[in-house]
Amino acid sequence: MRSDSPQATHVECPAVELQSLRELTQRVGSNPLLAQASTGNTSIKLDGVLWIKASGRWMADARQNEILIPLDLADVHQCLQRELDPAERFPGASLETAMHAMLPHAVVVHVHCVNTIAWAVRSDASAQLQQRLDGLRWRWVPYVESGLPLARAVRDAFASGDADMDTNIFVLGNHGLVIGAEDCRAAEQLLSEVGRRLAISPRQAHPADYTVLAESSVGSLWDLPDDDAVHALATDPVSRVILAGGLLYPCQAIFSNSSTPALFRSIADSDSPDQWASRYRSRPLLLIEGRGVLISRSMTSAECAMISGLAQVVQRIPASAPIRYLTDAEIANSSSAVAYRYRELANERIGGGAGVPALSAAASGKSLAS
Ligand SMILES: [Zn+2]
Repeated sequence: MRSDSPQATHVECPAVELQSLRELTQRVGSNPLLAQASTGNTSIKLDGVLWIKASGRWMADARQNEILIPLDLADVHQCLQRELDPAERFPGASLETAMHAMLPHAVVVHVHCVNTIAWAVRSDASAQLQQRLDGLRWRWVPYVESGLPLARAVRDAFASGDADMDTNIFVLGNHGLVIGAEDCRAAEQLLSEVGRRLAISPRQAHPADYTVLAESSVGSLWDLPDDDAVHALATDPVSRVILAGGLLYPCQAIFSNSSTPALFRSIADSDSPDQWASRYRSRPLLLIEGRGVLISRSMTSAECAMISGLAQVVQRIPASAPIRYLTDAEIANSSSAVAYRYRELANERIGGGAGVPALSAAASGKSLAS
């Protein structure tokens, strides 16, 4: 990693920049096409402190709650030198803390942009992106699990870039997008530019059969989802085929609590609701072929957000696209204890900033995190 990066410029007023990051984080997190539930994370390096989103927190909450944790950047780099994952040393911090720390940019934004993911799950993603991101300083990063492995892959991708023009866009296979910039304004502009270039119009799906779904849900474990777009997972034939083939990205497995694509295979509408009730009672959602989707009444807002995101991704993948599904080993890794802790935290959607050190802790140079 080069130390003379033009992105690593000194920031005149840390408090203003930190507030800008909170506002940017809230805007990004409030766009369901960019982040779903607690996915995605942002950070800023200010005066030797890495301010990074807390694990499991929702970016959409960044203005009303303190969701940024201050970490001593030297401590984080010391972890990395010892090949330790800083997310384990500082368990409150984002799972992707290592990646944020390794990149030299002052501001780093990582999102699960549905348009990006629709490209990033394709086996021909690199070639497809080449045309669309031409002229931008980008790199393709094939799928690797979150944490230290992803951080190393992004660092290597950065190091392989042109020495005179630092890479500042990383497309993560079967995962999402990372943007690096010298400040929040530049990060948001770049995010917008990449989003514009990678935008795909979602396929139009047949409308749901609300009458049948409503009748089926009476007295059952299931209810209709609030987001009508979710029904496309069951009413759109192309989407059904894509979902039946495998899992597309780790959050699909983590938030559905399923390590197989069986959950996402639609069930025949010839079965009666009574048959569904007995056969599929443990499922968090039912995709009823041609009719629509029913979700468990116990489904959390985080799980609902993930299902909405999945529908947006799948509706953007054409029938002809060659798909690179997650392998069994990758799915097993994404089902680790760390990933499940992440899901549990996201489901809680903690309010009030409890447990997150306040800005004054960093400003006073006290212990920054534990
Ligand atoms: Zn991610």
